Amino acid sequence: MKVSPGHYREKSHCGYCGGDDSSRIYGFLAYELTVKEYQELVDRGLRRSGVFVYKPDLAKSCCPQYTIRLRVEEFRPGKEHRQGLNRFNRFVGGAGNAHKKKKGKNNEYSLLTAIHEAEGEDFEVRLESSEFSQEKYELFRHYQMHVHNETEDEVSEEQFRRFLCDNPFPRRDSSEPIEKNDGLRGHVHQTYYHKGRLIAIGVLDVLPHCVSSVYFIWQQDYARFGMGKIASMQEIGLALELNKPYYYMGYYIHSCPKMKYKAQYRPSYILEPRLAECDEADGWWRPIEDFESKLDESPYVTLVDKPTPDYGDHLKTDSKLFASAMPGLLPPSELQNVDPKDFVTLVVDDEDDEIPINMHLIRPQFRTQVKMAQLELIAIVGKDLAQNARIKVG
Ligand SMILES: [Zn+2]
Repeated sequence: MKVSPGHYREKSHCGYCGGDDSSRIYGFLAYELTVKEYQELVDRGLRRSGVFVYKPDLAKSCCPQYTIRLRVEEFRPGKEHRQGLNRFNRFVGGAGNAHKKKKGKNNEYSLLTAIHEAEGEDFEVRLESSEFSQEKYELFRHYQMHVHNETEDEVSEEQFRRFLCDNPFPRRDSSEPIEKNDGLRGHVHQTYYHKGRLIAIGVLDVLPHCVSSVYFIWQQDYARFGMGKIASMQEIGLALELNKPYYYMGYYIHSCPKMKYKAQYRPSYILEPRLAECDEADGWWRPIEDFESKLDESPYVTLVDKPTPDYGDHLKTDSKLFASAMPGLLPPSELQNVDPKDFVTLVVDDEDDEIPINMHLIRPQFRTQVKMAQLELIAIVGKDLAQNARIKVG
């Protein structure tokens, strides 16, 4: 993992309630990141947007963002989901597919059979590399303008590339077809074609233990089928086919009506915000039911029953992150006696080479800042990951 020094933003725009400065996040740029490392980051409450990796401060944000995951093996789609998919299948599949069997073994509803039912001459769902194409961009543009009411000036090619194509993972050869097997890893576009026209794209990260949804865009004329539900069934199905135990739907925001649908998918688990302070026996993931009733009363909920940690004056003075005591950080006891240079390497880029540097090469006035960036990274990602981390300075 190679990253920029992190930054705690006290005033961030909130896309969920529209609050101007009411969201707080800690974030950094990832120049290099393996999918395995990213899985571990996601499991500590981080997420990425393009190459920007961030962790929301749940305790101090207007709309706290909880990491949620679904166990795909045990998921059974409800009536509404099944009917929506049936209607969609009938529309895109043509008459030829109408009588295919929808029951799997033991006469149970088979999600995998249902999601593939309409595939044929007229309808296809494919995995493609996340490369930019004009056709994809046109769909994105249409979606942002018609579904999110953005103006023509607000939507740009650059925004599409940065948000839905760029990623920090090792590059794959884009000419190689993407095989749907256990070895598949990285950033992909799941594309839906109806009569040769691109009608939807699921932007996905395939990680060691999950399929993680980044974004989903679709043609507005298909709105009546409930495209979000169709996509989640396709993506849960993909996780099953790739032998992943989990489907990550992106952050769950209990206070945001638009995001509440994620709680319909069961069995789901929420990542305890103060994960690093959990007792081992409790684990980091708890059934959503343990949080739900509490979330009705207060937007920020933790099941850890300990006072908020105090990082002490020397850390609080020099670091907004430690001053905030953001949930999820390693507790002070684990940071005592830690020498950051034993974990995080400092590097500079010199044309194509990367050169490790010592603190004494950093100008004295920046040393505290750089040391804090190292310590913050350790506190955010944990000691194991930090051991292989490099921070690019200068
Ligand atoms: Zn908000």
